[in-house]
Amino acid sequence: MKDVAIIGAGPAGLSAGIYAARAKLSTVIVEKMYPGGQAAITDRIENYPGFREGIGGSELTDSMKAQAEKFGAEFLNGDVQKVSKQDGKFILHLKGEILEARTVILAMGAESRKLGVKGEKEYTGRGVSYCATCDGAFYTDRPIMMVGGGDTAIEEALYLTRFASSVQVVHRRDQLRATRILQERAFKNEKIKFIWDSVVEEIKGQDTVEEVIVRNVKTGEKTSVFVNGVFVAIGLVPNTSFVKDLVKLNEQGYIITDENMGTGVPGLYAAGDIRQKSLRQVVTAVADGAIAAVEAEKYISGQA
Ligand code: NAP
Repeated sequence: MKDVAIIGAGPAGLSAGIYAARAKLSTVIVEKMYPGGQAAITDRIENYPGFREGIGGSELTDSMKAQAEKFGAEFLNGDVQKVSKQDGKFILHLKGEILEARTVILAMGAESRKLGVKGEKEYTGRGVSYCATCDGAFYTDRPIMMVGGGDTAIEEALYLTRFASSVQVVHRRDQLRATRILQERAFKNEKIKFIWDSVVEEIKGQDTVEEVIVRNVKTGEKTSVFVNGVFVAIGLVPNTSFVKDLVKLNEQGYIITDENMGTGVPGLYAAGDIRQKSLRQVVTAVADGAIAAVEAEKYISGQA
């Protein structure tokens, strides 16, 4: 049985792993995809303290992983289906495997929200993408669309101008949600144009995307926009489905914790983007992970 099982190897899980393993707790980090989470697919992180010129997302998270491993954290590639608590210990039900732990830190993060329009599913991987750093280079010298008005949409629209001939940003309001510094950069960039007060209605094409039907939410007018790629960044949905019966979730599905990352279930903590909080950034995720690990240590030693 492990002292600490961490589910999710994004910045919150990796930081929890560093703190737990350094405290000499036997620690396993279970991840179903690749380590680093959303941060790993971010081209450049400019606001993580200590890196004056910014740092590549995967460079930062690879380094966090190596640091956790240095202190003895184990990594396990696996898909957790269920977490239950029996006789004071936690049982993680993975596909084809069971793991036992004294404490669990939930750090599964969040995944991209889908548009839910006709053509989206059909063209995913054939013109529809949720990751600019993964797929941007496929659109060299081609026109593309970015849907969304938050930090991710604008940061990724700016990144995509390195490749694309033009980036049309479709946003449902006439003001961006993104932070001012990103807005200023986007407004100055000649390759970026905005389609305000509008939503995507349908994505069309032959083998790959060729056309997007956009509807103006104020006038109802529908327009065809001819692009080869549609990048979607309309927010995140927390990965909490398999713990919904174990912990308290808010209306959007985020885990409600106390300030020490406690979920209300003794020995069970949540950290990072998965929990209800006001600022979702790498810097707050790693702080959450550190707090959760220290609380897990106190719980194991009977001090909690
Ligand atoms: P977000 O901040 O929730 O923004 C989502 C954007 O998509 C909003 O502009 C929203 O419009 C729009 N939207 C939501 N649902 C929609 C729908 N069904 N159809 C069309 N548009 C829709 O999400 P995010 O940009 O992914 O960012 C997630 C978190 O990570 C945020 O806390 C963000 O600050 C953080 N982040 C920070 C950085 C950074 O600091 N550099 C970079 C990336 C992300 P409305 O504005 O009208 O609601």
